[in-house]
Amino acid sequence: MELKIGQLIAGTISSKIESCFTAYNPATGEALNPSVPEASVEEVEAAVNVASEAFESFSKTTGTIRASFLEAIANNIDALGDQLLDTAHLETALPLARLTGERGRTTSQLKLFANLVKNGNWKRAIVDGALPERQPLPRPDLRQMQIPLGVVAIFGSSNFPLAFSVAGGDTAAALAAGCPVVFKAHPAHPSTSQLIGEAIVKAGRETGIHAGVFSMVHGFSNQVGSDLVSHPLVKAVAFTGSFKGGKALYDLCVKRNEPIPVYAEMGSVNPVFFLPNAIEKNGEQLAKNFAASIAQGSGQFCTNPGLFVLLNSEKSKKFISDVSEAIAAITLHPMLTKKIADGYHDGIKNQLKLTGAKAVSKINYNAVAPSIVQTTCKHVLDTNSYFDEVFGPSSLAVIADDMEEVKSFIEKMPGQLTATIHASEKEISEVGSLVEKLQHKVGRIVFNSFPTGVEVCNAMVHGGPFPASTDSRSTSVGTTSIYRFVRPVCYQGFPDELLPDELKKANPLHLMRLENDDYKR
Ligand code: NAP
Repeated sequence: MELKIGQLIAGTISSKIESCFTAYNPATGEALNPSVPEASVEEVEAAVNVASEAFESFSKTTGTIRASFLEAIANNIDALGDQLLDTAHLETALPLARLTGERGRTTSQLKLFANLVKNGNWKRAIVDGALPERQPLPRPDLRQMQIPLGVVAIFGSSNFPLAFSVAGGDTAAALAAGCPVVFKAHPAHPSTSQLIGEAIVKAGRETGIHAGVFSMVHGFSNQVGSDLVSHPLVKAVAFTGSFKGGKALYDLCVKRNEPIPVYAEMGSVNPVFFLPNAIEKNGEQLAKNFAASIAQGSGQFCTNPGLFVLLNSEKSKKFISDVSEAIAAITLHPMLTKKIADGYHDGIKNQLKLTGAKAVSKINYNAVAPSIVQTTCKHVLDTNSYFDEVFGPSSLAVIADDMEEVKSFIEKMPGQLTATIHASEKEISEVGSLVEKLQHKVGRIVFNSFPTGVEVCNAMVHGGPFPASTDSRSTSVGTTSIYRFVRPVCYQGFPDELLPDELKKANPLHLMRLENDDYKR
């Protein structure tokens, strides 16, 4: 049976069709069926309005109900079985094994948030009891906790059709927080999005959630996304994708009458620093592992190591040539979209032009060749353009004369999602001085490993100073990503019966609270 595709608004597929677009098979370039109606201004309006109506009841649901909603979404995604994997494979050309892994990550992420909200500890309750005898002035009773923000508009990226898309981390975090979601589906995988959107709607029905809590709109033109973030009832935006897209949406939101938080997670170069003794001790194996990290997923990861820094030596030169050789032997799958393949070629051409090296040619539709381009640290420091992300299987080798030059490089480097250091035990003191500088530039520092592969857990930080993200104080992966969609409220001088259970004197929910400067249950 052909999948019915369209705007999912309050649990039903809107029948309005004004204009349509199609997705493409990245492996062949063929247009895929069915064609997808683009959301009209009225449909975006309807989705946000119904989400805003749903906020009142949804924000009051208990943690147990929200947990069962999130678990039901995970179960419904699993129940889609091969249909989901085959559809995603057709729309993205990502290998089935990778998609199976990504589905597991998506459902575990939903379950992780379900577990988080089963009790209210995550609401960070704080109690500062009254001090009526305090001199010169008494202190009133003050109690704080986190409450949900309201409707969240979410944009997913093309390179994670499941884990950073319709039921990805942003949606899981927003729903866990008690915020209704209006999702702008990525035009590169509309059918995958529709299947997941329906799994969410079904889960809502099964667990008695207001139908307006989740809606999804399709759009090929940027207009749909622009209309969505400009809607006055939207209270926050979460975006995963390119710098261009994230910054455009951020700029639009700045112009709103009511400013709102925009959490845009964008591209990154993710520099890797190889200290000399690490290369000397284990250069050959390190080169193979590094090449595998660059080429993983045809390089289409925001954590792809797009630049590496080494000190000038014969061993370093050999290491660069070992990485080039190892990467050339890796079979790449096609790029996700023609736009991404073209962007990759343009990015490499730009690097080659600036360094005067040889061109890499296009092989066939959406296929690209891996690329290692080499330059000097001095040259990078003079031409900031090397810090631009080239999204694909490439990395720029940057040769520094000494550690002082490496430190200048770090000082000049714009914000990144990650930085990685490879060093031997002998080099620990050097590592310390690099980390001191790096921690102010990145969200995650990796030691003797590689940045690709982002664990979903409590301690993860997936974010970083601009331009890696538009809000360096947050993460888009892991349980603490929920704090993007809540805000603190303080209740002053309240009688106990008017306080939320989380803040009542007897602590009836047995939460871990910060009570008069001590953590207690
Ligand atoms: P993209 O083209 O920016 O698309 C992401 C979403 O944003 C799409 O729904 C897109 O819709 C929308 N969009 C883009 N520009 C817009 C604009 N000006 N106005 C309104 N909506 C707009 O990104 P992508 O090509 O899918 O993904 C690849 C990029 O994502 C890479 O740069 C990668 O590093 C980054 N990424 C980052 C992370 C992270 O966690 N930081 C994770 C994965 C990927 P349209 O297609 O309709 O424009």
